[in-house]
Amino acid sequence: MNYSSIIIMVCCSLLLTQCSNAQKKSTMDNTNENTKKDNPYYSKTDTTKLAVSDSIWKTILPEEMYKVAREKGTEWAFSGKYYETDTKGDYYCAVCGNHLFRSDAKFASSCGWPSFYEAIHPNSVNYIKDLSHGMVRTEVTCGRCDSHLGHIFDDGPPPTYKRFCMNSIVLDFVPDEE
Ligand code: FE
Repeated sequence: MNYSSIIIMVCCSLLLTQCSNAQKKSTMDNTNENTKKDNPYYSKTDTTKLAVSDSIWKTILPEEMYKVAREKGTEWAFSGKYYETDTKGDYYCAVCGNHLFRSDAKFASSCGWPSFYEAIHPNSVNYIKDLSHGMVRTEVTCGRCDSHLGHIFDDGPPPTYKRFCMNSIVLDFVPDEE
């Protein structure tokens, strides 16, 4: 075997390894994507309270949604997909499908997060005292799956003067049909 044959063989071998790795990665990505999309707890009609552990949610929810919903993260202001939305429709919990807000209660707030003055039903959400980060705030969680949604403040517009300051990533918006 001459020198150039050896070079060609090494190149072919490297190419084959790379193709194989790319194929493995693609299969992994697809599996991951399918797992994230497959959420057996999501329902817009079942109002049964959920008790699902974070370790299970972690296998179901996309990473960024998990960080906000289960680790009480906050998305950057003016970064979420719904802060400017003024289309008529309904907002559901992106984790479990629970009906949370109607667009009628959404108002243009300068805070950079989607803001509402009331929830669709009194029990759609829970209110929890939050003393984190050296502040006294009221956390808002989903009434069905207990996921973190955001906080509520007393600087909203009438009639409630409340501002539900929510993270877009934990909301699913369904526009009204024409
Ligand atoms: Fe929920």
